[in-house]
Amino acid sequence: MPVVWSDRHRLHDPGGEVWVGVRIPGTEVPDRAEAIREALAAAGARFVDAAPQPADVVHAVHDRALTDYLASAWGSWEAAGLTAEPGQDRVVPYVFAHPELGRKLAVPAAASARAGYFTYDTMTLVGPGTWAAARAAIDVAVTAAELVRAGAPAAYACCRPPGHHATRSAFGGSCYLNNTAAAAARLRTMGEIAVIDIDAHHGNGTQAIFYEAADVRVGSVHIDPGAGWFPHFVGFASETGHGANRNLPLAPGTGDDGWLQAIDELAHWARPARALVVALGVDAAADDPESPLMVTPAGYRAAGRRLGSLRLPTVIVQEGGYDLDTIGGLVREFLTGIEEGGFG
Ligand SMILES: [Zn+2]
Repeated sequence: MPVVWSDRHRLHDPGGEVWVGVRIPGTEVPDRAEAIREALAAAGARFVDAAPQPADVVHAVHDRALTDYLASAWGSWEAAGLTAEPGQDRVVPYVFAHPELGRKLAVPAAASARAGYFTYDTMTLVGPGTWAAARAAIDVAVTAAELVRAGAPAAYACCRPPGHHATRSAFGGSCYLNNTAAAAARLRTMGEIAVIDIDAHHGNGTQAIFYEAADVRVGSVHIDPGAGWFPHFVGFASETGHGANRNLPLAPGTGDDGWLQAIDELAHWARPARALVVALGVDAAADDPESPLMVTPAGYRAAGRRLGSLRLPTVIVQEGGYDLDTIGGLVREFLTGIEEGGFG
């Protein structure tokens, strides 16, 4: 299947993450996408350059206030002198727009405070190339959707930064713009769409964006936030929207059998849809530092086979996966599984 790509992902170097107030090395690094590209190239994949997409594909899933902020965040930070004093080389929030502050909150005038209006964590830093890379990731996802709309049975969007934690008006969880949601929105002309998110973490952004929608069903299998995992506040089985939202949280250490059973359940549930978007995180794998789900490469291949056997026009969008030694092989296993399931 075609692999859609953009070199512009390299423009985003998160420069670390601030976790419990401490700057630690980031895991969402450019080498992730390069490792995937290398593994797929070695397997003979056909690469397609992302085509620039108009702004309305972004605004189908995001408020203009968020995109205006992200486009200007780095410039304002630099212009305010924050890179020199106190010497912070990334945009980092220090106050947050908690709903208890009031019914209508102002967008802060100070560049140092503005990030806290638009993000919900301190892990998702903005640097000089962040906006350009996030915007290019949307181009990758929507180009893959266009290939499928034009008749390709399946297409893989090899994008970063990831997107499934970004909501309509807020970014976080290493995500800025929601690539999966933009692909799903683009496919909507085909009829009802199913999104199946198999990243190790709940796809809270995609859930929030389509929570009220009747024509986009969103299912997510992930590590149970109730067991102490990101995104902590949401991702529980009780969140069903108007019946088109489905969460299957799993216990730490679940492994292939329980994980595949949950994917079977979501696949069955997605059957009435006319097209499928898979949010492909490979951070559920046993070697990944970001989750304890303990899925094997054979498990990823089996998951691909199950979703491929739905024989729905399918866009696969890259989300998480942080072990640089195994990320490429895991993606290759999943895509091979999709082809074995019925699509190539
Ligand atoms: Zn994840």
